[in-house]
Amino acid sequence: MTDTMITMYGTLWCGDCKRAKKFLGEQRIQYDYVDVEHDADGLAFIERVNSGKQIVPTIVFPDGSILVEPSNAELAVKLGLTTAAKRQFYDLIVVGSGPAGLTAALYAAREGIETLVIEQGGVGGQAGITERLDNFPGFPEGVSGAEFADRLRAQAERFGVEILAAQEATGIRMDGDYCVVRTADGGEYGCWAILLATGSTYRRLGVPGEDDFIGAGVHFCATCDAPFYRDKEVLVVGGGNSAGEESIFLTKFASKVTIAVRGDRMKASQVVRESVESDPKIDVLTDVVVDEFRGDGRLRSVVLRDTRTGERREITPAGVFVFVGLTPNTGFVRGKVATDERGFILTDAGLQTNAPGVFAAGDCRAGSTNQAASAAGEGAAAALAIRRYLEPLASGLPRRASAEVGTEPLTAPAA
Ligand SMILES: Cc1cc2nc3c(=O)[nH]c(=O)nc-3n(C[C@H](O)[C@H](O)[C@H](O)COP(=O)(O)OP(=O)(O)OC[C@H]3O[C@@H](n4cnc5c(N)ncnc54)[C@H](O)[C@@H]3O)c2cc1C
Repeated sequence: MTDTMITMYGTLWCGDCKRAKKFLGEQRIQYDYVDVEHDADGLAFIERVNSGKQIVPTIVFPDGSILVEPSNAELAVKLGLTTAAKRQFYDLIVVGSGPAGLTAALYAAREGIETLVIEQGGVGGQAGITERLDNFPGFPEGVSGAEFADRLRAQAERFGVEILAAQEATGIRMDGDYCVVRTADGGEYGCWAILLATGSTYRRLGVPGEDDFIGAGVHFCATCDAPFYRDKEVLVVGGGNSAGEESIFLTKFASKVTIAVRGDRMKASQVVRESVESDPKIDVLTDVVVDEFRGDGRLRSVVLRDTRTGERREITPAGVFVFVGLTPNTGFVRGKVATDERGFILTDAGLQTNAPGVFAAGDCRAGSTNQAASAAGEGAAAALAIRRYLEPLASGLPRRASAEVGTEPLTAPAA
């Protein structure tokens, strides 16, 4: 342990360790990590500070204080992150600070719309955790995800957007002409309009090493990252249509694509299967699962297991693309706005949902293209639609003066 860094003591299998690592990573906070299963001193340390018990994660801060199994909220408080907004009422609340949310927020704030962004993780969304964005217009040399996120944040803040990071939106409700957003700490914020820009989550395999090599050999988007694998061999994991289609796309760059399928055949449509089978650059391995990703800061090898024999073998593709589905981050609005059968939010052409005043943009929206540039474009379009929505409200209803804001309690949530 150094005296300037946070040190986290954990294990590979511990879910709370993964959550805490993800939280610190998203906040771009550096820390040392000690795997107590492979570090006798680390194990002895956590036993000493936990009265003989082996509890992980145990996190030691530079001031010497220790948090054991902290929640994200406890971590946020300890790290001095702002977890409450300055006021209780805004013109617009944007949930999610990816390209869609922050673009909408800066467009809105630039036009004088008082805007709060609520973000559960680090500012910048998925784009912010991407190693490199190579296809966002205006960056001819590409841009690191972290720099892209910092630039978006700075631009939004320049126009007066307030950003509440490390705070999760847990529900919304309508209250007459107002909308209300609830947060994980029990807070409630009122607004005239909400923009849902919560993105989606690439489903992961959940095997050791996967989180460690995201963007450094493990990828979830061929359109985004295939060009990094020109003339190299890649592994695709998944057996559905997206795995098949993305494999065909990958052959434009990679010298060879191997698809690892859990079952005895691909579940993709017949057309996709036939295209895959007839492509000389693609091999399909059936009845295999990934057991582990190995490397040293970058992916070096993948351990595959034959599901029939249990036999394990190590292969060394240059990169791995995992296509096992996408889950929209929309659980907290389920039942409040219409979604498709997979949970992606349905909107009209003006990006408004079936709930008046509630808009959606970016990857959480049904029909989105899962690209940063289109998410930003939808954010801009949503901001313009929200401005149009707010105009009659502003003239027909008494707007709350800034002085009143934050003083009037919001009514209790409807059932
Ligand atoms: C590894 C990786 C590489 C990629 N590479 C590229 C690339 O090269 N080029 C490209 O165009 N695209 C790329 N993409 C896709 C691109 O990042 C997304 O399409 C884009 O970020 C979507 O923007 P968004 O604003 O809709 O959602 P997101 O960027 O997903 O942002 C949504 C935000 O909402 C937050 N959120 C979710 N739920 C809540 C809640 N309840 N309360 C508060 N906050 C919440 C999330 O924490 C997140 O920060 C990549 C994605 C990944 C994962």
